[in-house]
Amino acid sequence: MGDMGEGTRAVRAGLPEARKYEPALPGPVFAAHYHLPGEPTGPYTYGRDENPTWTLLERAIGELEAPADDAETVVFASGMAAISAVLLSHARAGDTVVLPDDGYQALPLVRQQLEAYGVEVRTAPTGGDAQLSVLDGAKLLWIETPSNPGLDVCDVRRLVEAAHAGGTLVAVDNTLATPLGQRPLELGADFSVASGTKGLTGHGDLLLGYVVCRDAESAARVRRWRKIVGAIPGPMEAWLAHRSLATLHLRTDRQCANALAVAGALTGRSEVTGLRYPGLPDDPSHPVAAAQMHRFGSVLSFTLPDRAHAERFLAGLRLVDDATSFGSVRSSAERRGRWGGDAVPEGFIRFSAGAEDTADLVADLLRALDTASSPPRFS
Ligand SMILES: *Cc1c(COP(=O)(O)O)cnc(C)c1O
Repeated sequence: MGDMGEGTRAVRAGLPEARKYEPALPGPVFAAHYHLPGEPTGPYTYGRDENPTWTLLERAIGELEAPADDAETVVFASGMAAISAVLLSHARAGDTVVLPDDGYQALPLVRQQLEAYGVEVRTAPTGGDAQLSVLDGAKLLWIETPSNPGLDVCDVRRLVEAAHAGGTLVAVDNTLATPLGQRPLELGADFSVASGTKGLTGHGDLLLGYVVCRDAESAARVRRWRKIVGAIPGPMEAWLAHRSLATLHLRTDRQCANALAVAGALTGRSEVTGLRYPGLPDDPSHPVAAAQMHRFGSVLSFTLPDRAHAERFLAGLRLVDDATSFGSVRSSAERRGRWGGDAVPEGFIRFSAGAEDTADLVADLLRALDTASSPPRFS
């Protein structure tokens, strides 16, 4: 399958060999334990350690993330479970870890935990490959590209080269891109980590995370962390996720096209500032993004004049849910400042393009922008 197109690989990813009377994708296996007479040897002993539904999903994600590598994938209950597993299973007291200072809003909480365990944490912005300047002597470099919610991009190959020269491991949060948008292991990273809650599964109905590890020893640590913390996905979630992968290329293609169309429509609006989408040819990130990404993702961000203007815009949208998260087939948007965690202006909007018809989505966007710019006046 490795030499075939992404759509072909997506629809067949992780499927077992065809057997008469068996479904193409076996149903979820609900088991806390398995029949196990005699010596307790694997693959399936106890439900916290392994599950056949995870095995198929892990194989599928591995085929999409690292088709040419002998990588190992470990699935988790959520993206945060996957992120914490890599950081907390690899960093020890006295080690240094480099994080982005503009990454996912729960990273500062992970930072506090690492520091409580005696790990030194340094941060720098994603843009301009600024993390290069704080790499010296670090055990692990954490990259998030494109970053959430600012949509900055860094040069993964360049950061990996510098990190590896100093013996630093590199993990990339691949949530925004999905494996059809970017394959971090091919860019040299040691780990590709993501929330499967977003574009990977794409229906906004489950939480999931995964870690793809280049190295078997690292994978063993991550797996051991999952065992001791127990942050395991339910079989139903794992099965739903695997089922969703079959349409990943269709969803991603439409959602990326819609994101580009929305970004294009926003370009001409005088009330919009700070528009960021790595797929826009004149976005500052576009040259680096084009060199390392296959698709530019479904998420864009921009700023409206103030909080009230942004709230009027969100209230005026009919096809776009005012909700957090992103990557779903149903478009969503939110005023990110309402959470208080990101360093963004009050009118900052993160917009996630769904799989609606492009013309309908753009018309809804423009209508809501018009309404927000000229609110009804009462006299
Ligand atoms: C959502 C998100 C996470 C966390 O994933 P959960 O599945 O919500 O735990 C991590 N990184 C990024 C970039 C995200 O957008």
